[in-house]
Amino acid sequence: MDNYERIWEAVLEILKENSTPTSFETWFKPLKISKIDSELNIIYVEIISEKNIGNDILLNVLKNRYLPSIENAFKIVLNDDFRVIIKESGDNNFKEELDLKPKKKEIDKKLDKENILNPKYTFDNFVVGNNNKYAHAAALAVAECPSDAYNPLFIYGGSGLGKTHLIQAIGIHILENNPDLNVLYTDSETFTNELISALGERKMSQFKAKYRKLDVLIIDDIQFIENKESTQEEFFHTFNSLYRENKQIIISSDRAPNKLTNLSERLRTRFNWNLIADIQPPDYETRVAILEKKAQDLKIKIDEDIEDVIRLIAEKIKDNIREMEGAFNSTFSLSSLVGEKPDKSMAKRVLKNIISNSGELAVTPEKIKKVVCKYYNISLSDLESSKKTNNIAYPRQIAMYLIREMTESSLPQIGKYFGGRHHTTVKYACEKIEIDLKNEEELVKIIDSLKEEIKE
Ligand code: ADP
Ligand code: MG
Repeated sequence: MDNYERIWEAVLEILKENSTPTSFETWFKPLKISKIDSELNIIYVEIISEKNIGNDILLNVLKNRYLPSIENAFKIVLNDDFRVIIKESGDNNFKEELDLKPKKKEIDKKLDKENILNPKYTFDNFVVGNNNKYAHAAALAVAECPSDAYNPLFIYGGSGLGKTHLIQAIGIHILENNPDLNVLYTDSETFTNELISALGERKMSQFKAKYRKLDVLIIDDIQFIENKESTQEEFFHTFNSLYRENKQIIISSDRAPNKLTNLSERLRTRFNWNLIADIQPPDYETRVAILEKKAQDLKIKIDEDIEDVIRLIAEKIKDNIREMEGAFNSTFSLSSLVGEKPDKSMAKRVLKNIISNSGELAVTPEKIKKVVCKYYNISLSDLESSKKTNNIAYPRQIAMYLIREMTESSLPQIGKYFGGRHHTTVKYACEKIEIDLKNEEELVKIIDSLKEEIKE
């Protein structure tokens, strides 16, 4: 019996207990698991026989009547929520996977929008890297001295980079210090919806009172009020009223104010009044640190296998921390599903979707160094050392050149990858290799083949 069969047997046991023998035989017996997608938490269940009853009816009844029972049984067996998709027999192109991708994003969005401060989103849990240190410092200053540090504080950055986490951390911190302050976290969509229903129910004064009595307004994803004129109008008044009273306003957006082109000029100007801080995608080291932190929080012991999992995920997912965490969690779900320890191969399985979809593999300094060491048959510690013998210095220069070419690392950063070399050393190495490339055909071939291998 394979794993899917074992899981299905257990699910059947539960379904059996809760149904009559006939309905059990009719509805559940003709099914089997055809695939478990632990990344998206979807289980595909396939109809394998249709002896007694037509496929259409079976499909219909299962979907409309028994889906919740089946999902529930899976939940009991697997100790996790899965969506179940029932498929006709032999239908094993799992096309829904693609269609479902946005759904997961929608769920993530919803989770963000619960409008309560998530106790996990603290400063303590926020890993500071070069990508976010400015936004972090500004947020901390506002959290320490609301209304006195920067007002308004405007934080922007791409999806999944920690905006919600950071602005909620401000709210949590302020409430810890001053539990009496009236702090509200919301997002601009909720603000819009509340405004619409207030208008409909003639409860504008209530709406106004709610927002204007705040000490701290944290409003997430302000970009959603672009193109919504009456919302902008109302937000403008809310903003002015709070600002006049010296109340703290914290705003997040997926873009800088001047890129919010469908926002009224006067709001844009106000967003520009004080501090604007951006969050960029984290570099490799920060990505690793975030996952290590995550593992610690989950009380996972970081042994070599887990370290491999972390490095692999940090290599492959570069610009969305939410997706990175998702892949990390999925690796653990998958491992408990198949009853094996999480390791690199398990993470690879989870990442397969993501990587094949984006079609692009991450190139990291680590990978480049490794490939260069292998090609020149030297050790990593030699490569990173300051040894000057040509058989080591030359590969080191090649590695520096390749990192410069293939990653977004700056010269000083590259210096750090080689035991803290000065950036002029790196610059010299890159220039030297460039000159060599013009004069040595052999080197062009070597560099090309190294690049091939690095991208593999
Ligand atoms: P955004 O609002 O920018 O889309 P979120 O704040 O929702 O992104 O962050 C997505 C996930 O990544 C959250 O689980 C958050 O805790 C985590 N995260 C983001 N940045 C960091 C960080 N610097 N340190 C630790 N976790 C982070
Ligand atoms: Mg967010």
